Amino acid sequence: MQNYIDQLNEAQRAPVLQKDGAMIIIAGAGSGKTRVLTLRIAYLMHLGVDAFNILALTFTNKAAREMKERISKIVGSTEAKNLWMGTFHSVFARILRAEADKLGYPSNFTIYDSQDSQRLIGQIIKEMQLDKDIYKPKDVLGRISNYKNNMITVKAYFNNPELMEADAMAKKPRVGDIYQAYVERCFKAGAMDFDDLLLKTNELLIRFPEVLLKYQDRFRYILVDEYQDTNNSQYMIVKALADRFQNICVVGDDAQSIYAFRGANINNIFNFQKDFDNVQTYRLEQNYRSSKNIVEAANTIIDKNKTKLEKVVWTANADGPKIKIHRSITDAEEGRFVASTIFEEKMQKQMNNGDFAILYRTNAQSRAMEDALRKRDIPYRIYGGLSFYQRKEIKDVLGYLRLVVNPKDEEALVRVINYPTRGIGNTTVEKLNIAANHYKRSIFEVMEHIDKIDLKLTSGTKNKISDFVTMIKNFQVIDQNHDAYYLTDYIVKKTGLVQELKKDGTPEGITRLDNIEELLNGIKDFTEGQKEVDGARGSLAEFLEDVALASDLDNDKGDDDRVALMTIHLAKGLEFPTVFVVGMEEDLFPSAMSVNSRAELEEERRLFYVALTRAEHQAYLTYSQSRYRWGKLTDCDPSRFIQEIDPKYIEFLSAPETNYRYKSSISEDIFGDVDKSKLRQTKPVSGIPPKWVKDNEEPKPNHDIRRLKEMSKVSISDSSSNQNNSLREGQIIMHERFGKGKILNLEGAGADKKAEIKFETGGIKKLLLRFAKLNIL
Ligand code: ATP
Ligand code: MG
Repeated sequence: MQNYIDQLNEAQRAPVLQKDGAMIIIAGAGSGKTRVLTLRIAYLMHLGVDAFNILALTFTNKAAREMKERISKIVGSTEAKNLWMGTFHSVFARILRAEADKLGYPSNFTIYDSQDSQRLIGQIIKEMQLDKDIYKPKDVLGRISNYKNNMITVKAYFNNPELMEADAMAKKPRVGDIYQAYVERCFKAGAMDFDDLLLKTNELLIRFPEVLLKYQDRFRYILVDEYQDTNNSQYMIVKALADRFQNICVVGDDAQSIYAFRGANINNIFNFQKDFDNVQTYRLEQNYRSSKNIVEAANTIIDKNKTKLEKVVWTANADGPKIKIHRSITDAEEGRFVASTIFEEKMQKQMNNGDFAILYRTNAQSRAMEDALRKRDIPYRIYGGLSFYQRKEIKDVLGYLRLVVNPKDEEALVRVINYPTRGIGNTTVEKLNIAANHYKRSIFEVMEHIDKIDLKLTSGTKNKISDFVTMIKNFQVIDQNHDAYYLTDYIVKKTGLVQELKKDGTPEGITRLDNIEELLNGIKDFTEGQKEVDGARGSLAEFLEDVALASDLDNDKGDDDRVALMTIHLAKGLEFPTVFVVGMEEDLFPSAMSVNSRAELEEERRLFYVALTRAEHQAYLTYSQSRYRWGKLTDCDPSRFIQEIDPKYIEFLSAPETNYRYKSSISEDIFGDVDKSKLRQTKPVSGIPPKWVKDNEEPKPNHDIRRLKEMSKVSISDSSSNQNNSLREGQIIMHERFGKGKILNLEGAGADKKAEIKFETGGIKKLLLRFAKLNIL
């Protein structure tokens, strides 16, 4: 143990050695917060604290797993096994299962994932005959989720005229009614959604003081990583549990708070001092992760935010290479640049695929990257797309398994009742649904009693319904006597799922079969693992819970060497030797939706801070001058964030875009004495209209015209467009990439003006002049 303590710096050692009391560690990225938390747990155990009394809450289950592995190495795995570690959701799902009856839920309650929740909300909207263009299930779910995370129950909602008014103002006056119906339907189905896992935990701790006491007594030491991104519901749980012993240690960085849109409340960090007695505040200042250039560049970025705690971050690491900036003309070219850079660096520096991460603002950006990586045969993995467990064929199998565990689970039932087809059509399902709502029973219960209810069904249909019920009950019997693997294997054969896919025969069908095979392997691993632990049967319910809460990141076994592709949000807490932040463009990053208020823009900037600080050695920022968005080719300007970095930390790989189509007043700073009327004409705006930033909402970036001119190495006047007008057929030109050529033909006008050019290197190319940089010879 001492060996590990010795490896810490003094500032890190202090919070590890303080055994009791409330403490908060606020520190910048890469300063060892997570490492301190891990060692603190090991040290507590070393001092004799029982692992059963320690609760650690992390951002992903994968992070928890890795932490546990490290602790096992220090204190031994037998002891570490008893630690409670995981995300808020997985830890409290476990507690809710044990206490479910108090809240009127079955202990085998289902966890609805967001797909299930959205489908149910869509169904309710349909039943209420509301306009689905106004009431978009995803938006409505977002609003409901927000209420739940702020502990606003249906009752509280209807007691609060302001909330109702806000929904009415958003042209959605029936959100409250949908909320109510949704809650009732989930309850009837014995299901909790993600937000319920927190909301119901709070309800449990508030309504049942003896339960609170039990868990306060159990979790005498509580530790929370990434505290800056806890929401109100999570905060209430932590506060309640830690209230008795006040042994609470939270670590976080206000500069990395990036989940406000999901209800995270940065005030939880600011208010920590007030929430507990004698709070010790620790600060860590030395960054161990990144080279000096990256650390200092990141500091210059976050400095632009007004709302922040003052922090010092420095590093003793080497300067490292400068941050490289690359401009491309299209997003496909951006992808090619990234792929070829990875290819070359791997060769030159003997690096692995896993040393590279490509981070983006939105999932949609992954496609261009994937295409390029595939062409180069570079293995990659996308995180946070559709997780394995959300694929159709997997959800179908899981649907059956969920029904076995909880026949009331309506989302599962609706999914599999007629898949593979067994003659129970939509009309029948609708009738069953209406009856279920009428009798306040689950659909399955209605089906069990189909003979006694008059739904005007043919006897043939009734038989099919009874057969389905019998089949599920048969599965339940098998579940009692066999492990989850045996049951699943039985189900996929018995229901005809496998035969259905085999019959399909298309490549997609074969992939689906492979996926089912993969699921079976996963279940096998799980059941075997369970048997090893306590000789028990691998319980299906436990497996399903694991699955419901597994984020895509959690499924990563890290056993193959791949480039990681993910959104910046997902990359929190991670680190990679080389990081590409792609799509550094206005309206994309910062997002078009976030430039209208300072608070939103500051959150985007924190996101950029998170992105940059994932890099250990080298960071690349890339942007494209055009990009397909919403099916349209859109012109793009480089992100303001690029210019916010002090130029001494960056290096341009290609001449940067010169025609900044600038936002509002800030163009004054950039272009100085340049004739702006000319500038505005230079770039025809074919895509989204520019967003205007109000003068008082964002400080003017610290631009200076000389720097920009230097950066661009091209005069800032509208050279390209003037030049394009003076081009003539027969002229000899020079192209940046293709070399010397002769203009054969000119066509189109304005933004669409094209030149057909015969190049000396061979080949005739048609180039869009607004992109092609031609010099007349
Ligand atoms: P983030 O804010 O991004 O979550 P963090 O503050 O949690 O970062 P860690 O991930 O704990 O930082 O540490 C960053 C890196 O620095 C890790 O690779 C870690 O092992 C290393 N590190 C931390 N402290 C030390 C130390 N005292 N000596 C050597 N390496 C260290
Ligand atoms: Mg961390």
